[in-house]
Amino acid sequence: MEEGGILVLVHLGWRGIEQGLLEKTIKFIETKSKEPISAVLGPCINSCCYEFGQNEMDTLLEKYGPKIISETLAGTLSLNMKECVRGILRSCDVEVKHDEAFCTNCDPRHWSFRAEGTDKRQVMIAWKEEIGEEIIKK
Ligand SMILES: [Zn+2]
Repeated sequence: MEEGGILVLVHLGWRGIEQGLLEKTIKFIETKSKEPISAVLGPCINSCCYEFGQNEMDTLLEKYGPKIISETLAGTLSLNMKECVRGILRSCDVEVKHDEAFCTNCDPRHWSFRAEGTDKRQVMIAWKEEIGEEIIKK
């Protein structure tokens, strides 16, 4: 991250996506900084496991297009949440610096309340550091 930039963490589900909260967040950032915006996408439930209803899909489909439609490993309709997010970021000229591929539902390194009802949680932590001259020269 560039020195002087701002850092925002956003955690959204499909309802937040549908309500345009990611676009609103990007617009808010643009009011605070003229720097190019970049994104890091953390893990989420992937299309392999995210069974999704047709009515909800129709709502999102209108807004984000057919790339968001996928199929679970069991062959049922699923939402490709990452494609939704990537599409929004592309349309807002936000560069994706990292995109975590793991599925929080079926990857054993993550937990999922949806899948297991577990009380374990994962967190994303981000911080800004001042970049001193010594570090810049390296
Ligand atoms: Zn999965």
